[in-house]
Amino acid sequence: MVSKIFTLLVILFSTLSLIGQSSFETAYSEGSWPSVKNLQIDFYDNQENETFLPISIIKGNTEGPVFTMVAGVHGYEYPPIVAVQELLQEIKASALTGTLIVIPIASTNSFFTRTPFKNANDGVNLNGAFPGEVEGTVTQQIAHFITKEVIPKTNVFLDIHGGDASEDLLPFICYYNNEQKPEQTQLAKELSEVSGFEYIVSYPYTLKDNDPAKYVFKQAVQDGKTGLSIESGKLGNVQKDAVDLIKVGVYNMLDKMGMYDNAKRTDITHKHFNSQDYIRSPNQGIFYSDYKAGDSVEDGAVVGVIKDVFGKVTADIKAPKSGIILYKIGTPPVSKDETLICISSFDK
Ligand SMILES: [Zn+2]
Repeated sequence: MVSKIFTLLVILFSTLSLIGQSSFETAYSEGSWPSVKNLQIDFYDNQENETFLPISIIKGNTEGPVFTMVAGVHGYEYPPIVAVQELLQEIKASALTGTLIVIPIASTNSFFTRTPFKNANDGVNLNGAFPGEVEGTVTQQIAHFITKEVIPKTNVFLDIHGGDASEDLLPFICYYNNEQKPEQTQLAKELSEVSGFEYIVSYPYTLKDNDPAKYVFKQAVQDGKTGLSIESGKLGNVQKDAVDLIKVGVYNMLDKMGMYDNAKRTDITHKHFNSQDYIRSPNQGIFYSDYKAGDSVEDGAVVGVIKDVFGKVTADIKAPKSGIILYKIGTPPVSKDETLICISSFDK
């Protein structure tokens, strides 16, 4: 009897694990060379939320590196989403070496409900949800899916962002300076340097193996992959130059990887930054600043003021050090402890 129950359980669990094999896994392993497969993965949670994750698997003429790019982790950041739409139309599988995994909009709920930063369903910011939870809310499940299914197949993981609805931003490319994985980090640095982005930011990497990575490309780095992120575009708008910069960046990286031949090399002198200082808002209020992303600031300079709703100044905002404004809040409302301005500089 025990063995019968055991047999039944084995059959049950093997059936479940077949069902459990995702359509992504099947499409990825069965796709011929060259081929394009577009999938929609559905997610539901016990709060009655539902959403979907679109994924395109582009297999080239021959096997080679696997390059993953994701846009729309923040669904209100439009230049990345528009750039990836154009790339999906332009890239020919027959001219590709290796595989592209493309997530054109990672937070479709945020996109279609025009919600900055968060999925409006569950209130979770996907950029902060990694490694995710298999039985969590829909956003946590999406993070878990990308961590378990997509990142393991990937050699290079590119996470494309821009300034969200309220963010003024200088375009830049960034990576983690992970000294534990020198080869992956070196590749991230080289891809940054060919990308066509003038500003290159490297972040210190201090994550322990069991610390939550929070961000998708940091998850990729924690899992031993080469991870990078682009920031281009601002203030919840579609700027054509920001879209074009992203596309050039992707094509130049694919060229460097020997995957696709459409590089547009530009002669630019890179500016490297490795240090970030964040000015946080001391209170809620209305933020006034004549500074823009890309402006240089001197240590101690007043870079803005906060007023209360009656127009009384409640705080002078001063730069904690000299550097360049990488991004700042570009619209009036601010909350207590929110990052008003990120100042970046280069420390030897
Ligand atoms: Zn973002």
